[in-house]
Amino acid sequence: MAFDYNLFVIGAGPGGLAAAKKAASYGVRVAIAEQESIGGTCVNRGCIPKKLIVYAADFALQKQIAPSYGWSECQTYFDWTLFIKSVHQHLDTLNQTYFQQLHKAGIELICDRATFIDAHTVDINGLKVTADKILIAVGGQPLKPKIPGIEYAITSREMFQLPYLPKRLAIIGGGYIGVEFSSMMHAFGCQVTMIEKDEMILSGFDDDIRSSVQQGLRKRGIKLLTSSTVQEIKYSDESLLLTITGKKREIITADTILVATGYAPNTKNLGLENVHVELGEHGAIKVDEYSRTSQENIFAVGDCTSRVQLSPVAKAEGIAFANTVFGNKVQKLDYDYVPSAVFCRPEAAGVGMTEAKAREKFGESVQCYYTQFQPLLYQITEQNELTTMKLVLNGDSGQVLGAHLVGEHAADIIQSLGVAIRKGITKEDLDEIIGIHPTVGEEFFSLNQVQE
Ligand SMILES: Cc1cc2nc3c(=O)[nH]c(=O)nc-3n(C[C@H](O)[C@H](O)[C@H](O)COP(=O)(O)OP(=O)(O)OC[C@H]3O[C@@H](n4cnc5c(N)ncnc54)[C@H](O)[C@@H]3O)c2cc1C
Repeated sequence: MAFDYNLFVIGAGPGGLAAAKKAASYGVRVAIAEQESIGGTCVNRGCIPKKLIVYAADFALQKQIAPSYGWSECQTYFDWTLFIKSVHQHLDTLNQTYFQQLHKAGIELICDRATFIDAHTVDINGLKVTADKILIAVGGQPLKPKIPGIEYAITSREMFQLPYLPKRLAIIGGGYIGVEFSSMMHAFGCQVTMIEKDEMILSGFDDDIRSSVQQGLRKRGIKLLTSSTVQEIKYSDESLLLTITGKKREIITADTILVATGYAPNTKNLGLENVHVELGEHGAIKVDEYSRTSQENIFAVGDCTSRVQLSPVAKAEGIAFANTVFGNKVQKLDYDYVPSAVFCRPEAAGVGMTEAKAREKFGESVQCYYTQFQPLLYQITEQNELTTMKLVLNGDSGQVLGAHLVGEHAADIIQSLGVAIRKGITKEDLDEIIGIHPTVGEEFFSLNQVQE
């Protein structure tokens, strides 16, 4: 049977775009459908606009220490409306760039929603298109928990559209998205309260990193209610009232509530009932190690599966899929050493195993090297900002299993170190490395304090 395309991709986020471009480079006929803006969550309502807001917030933090560096105090004013306008202008430019890249690669872009009719046919607003292989790269969307009054809360998606800065912001959920927004919005002068159901924020990160970020946020003035849940939200006297239960019962007043408690794959209303694509927990698409679904010619990558939900992972999965299916280069990904970061201040990042995970696998033989110090940047200021550094080792072999950092440039330092850790570097190897002085990263090469 002759198909319209060799590959049809649903969703032009990092996963779908990477797969489409790679497949087209092998000379196959590709089309991609996108219901919103090209670039997906990452470019339009995730990584990119968020990092620009982090940069904007950093000016406020720099201003606090500037007098210690000889800068005189001066009046400054932050114009959120102006700033967010230039963020969106930049996103428009990125969309245009993606558009041109697709055009140049000979990939047909269909700007509409696609749904399955059968295993080889999709419907796009009444248009039927057939393809030999179909890749689902539809990503996910923020979930709202079932709390009375949750309709008053917004998600990360709307945070990038806020017309003004709220005076009082409540954030439900202490995962990386909630933590990042707490840090940025507080730097702009918002009074921030974050409510987290666990004892510590940032579940999944190393416990020392979690407690270090937690202390750092509290020290900056963010109100952090841990072991607490929101019972209900009410609107009263032009503000929102959140009833919190936990260590104690209290009522928090906010102008804006951000809910950041989880993400759900976009697998509803996709016509998946018309094909044999099995879904797993929370509606995530089940795939094998080559991203193949239970329907032989249909594949899925990125946030709509239940693997690591980060942009570079979606992109790598898209490329591996195209290499395997069209490039004659069978490729599967190794998820063990995917670095991740939290772009709060202080910044946090980690790669490899947390201490808890290492102990599960290697038990007693795990050894941890740990230090906390005040970095040079803050030594001539009034601020007591600590950097936390940790290495997790297999004590028997000396192999470094994980590295974790809270402090300046944590993300960049950890991702470079991740290369060596993935290649099996030992503590002895690290000790032999000559670093760059004076930097934060060089401390990883002289860690000699074993954690009790
Ligand atoms: C606030 C926030 C901050 C983040 N920060 C980071 C970060 O700093 N670093 C990082 O690595 N990751 C970050 N992420 C996660 C990252 O954005 C995702 O992991 C990544 O975008 C997943 O890529 P994807 O291609 O799987 O899906 P997406 O980027 O979500 O793209 C899926 C696309 O499919 C489209 N689509 C869905 N259904 C259909 C359909 N039926 N027909 C046509 N099109 C459809 C959607 O409109 C969307 O454009 C962040 C996420 C959020 C929400």
